[in-house]
Amino acid sequence: MNNFQYTQPATPKASIDALVKEPTAQFIAGGTNLIDLMKHGIAAPKTLVDINNLTLRTIEQQGNTLRIGALALNSEVADSKLVLEKQPLLAQALNAGASAQIRNMATVGGNMLQRTRCYYFYDTAMPCNKRQPGSGCGALEGYNRIHAIWGTETALTGRTSSCIAVHPSDMCVALAALDATVLVSGPKGDRRIPFTDFHRLPGDTPQIDTNLDRGELIVAVDIPNNAFAKHVHYLKVRDRNSYAFALVSVAAALDLNGSTIQEARLAMGGVAHKPWRLTEAEKALQGKPATTATFEQAATIAMQGAKAYEHNAFKVKMAPKAIIEALKTAAGLG
Ligand SMILES: Cc1cc2nc3c(=O)[nH]c(=O)nc-3n(C[C@H](O)[C@H](O)[C@H](O)COP(=O)(O)OP(=O)(O)OC[C@H]3O[C@@H](n4cnc5c(N)ncnc54)[C@H](O)[C@@H]3O)c2cc1C
Ligand code: SF4
Repeated sequence: MNNFQYTQPATPKASIDALVKEPTAQFIAGGTNLIDLMKHGIAAPKTLVDINNLTLRTIEQQGNTLRIGALALNSEVADSKLVLEKQPLLAQALNAGASAQIRNMATVGGNMLQRTRCYYFYDTAMPCNKRQPGSGCGALEGYNRIHAIWGTETALTGRTSSCIAVHPSDMCVALAALDATVLVSGPKGDRRIPFTDFHRLPGDTPQIDTNLDRGELIVAVDIPNNAFAKHVHYLKVRDRNSYAFALVSVAAALDLNGSTIQEARLAMGGVAHKPWRLTEAEKALQGKPATTATFEQAATIAMQGAKAYEHNAFKVKMAPKAIIEALKTAAGLG
């Protein structure tokens, strides 16, 4: 690990100023991802700006929105009465992630900015365009079992992107499904980013994970009220039943009137460089009876455009089954 300067500012503005002053500086919250990256020699900030003194930990209802501070711990959010009452899908997704100890350190903002778990990203002896742009991608011709099945083609040319990694978060899959908005504060002021635009596809610049600008601090996440609280399910399929990242995961939310689906929300994790919202499948569910046949049709629609690599074809078979299972459980048919 390299030597670094450490500072713990008292305000968001002072934190942003400290970050902008040093080009390699990084914010640190729970440190559960950043410290690992520093130990592996993947991140080498000359300054760490510790944001844990900022008052960004509140979870509160503000009008029609549930606002969660960026420094709220993953465990606090999952256990919050407000979250359990209003947005239980988020609590389920958080509890599916990591371990109790890590959830007690990890923050909402840090969870959003955790980096991929691609083996080649962590192995500095291997090429990796995300770690070292232009060096190549170890996974494309290598062992790509945990990699993406969507969003791996560049928009302009349709050829394969220079990275096929997936975003590893569980929490973010629920936030994408729930139409959350990210509140950020930066050198140019404050702005709001729709959650589905927060993370980006890799294209030819996979070293950039999100649409955050340099110096921007995540302040909070807003989730609008919805009618999904009664019928939600987060399904995570993984190699071990705990302490493992998703091979595929599904966040499913239904607003049911009797057995008719008024509205649906569906997003997947472990399948793309960003949480993958399944909007066409959501549209196909609207107005239909909540039956296994309806869910099978939606899963077929959801899978359009999926593309497997040498070792992850199983994900293309597993994903529709997971979608059907998550929807059935959300609807109470499971
Ligand atoms: C063994 C292990 C298993 C895990 N399993 C899972 C799992 O199954 N599912 C899952 O979802 N996650 C899992 N995780 C990842 C874990 O959820 C993340 O490490 C954690 O959420 C990161 O939060 P943090 O506060 O510790 O972030 P940090 O490590 O402090 O920071 C991460 C990044 O976010 C930036 N950052 C932090 N806060 C802000 C902010 N407010 N504004 C701007 N930038 C910010 C930092 O600069 C850094 O780049 C696992 C981690 C470990 C170590
Ligand atoms: S998939 Fe992405 S993170 Fe993994 S080796 Fe290729 S470029 Fe690196």
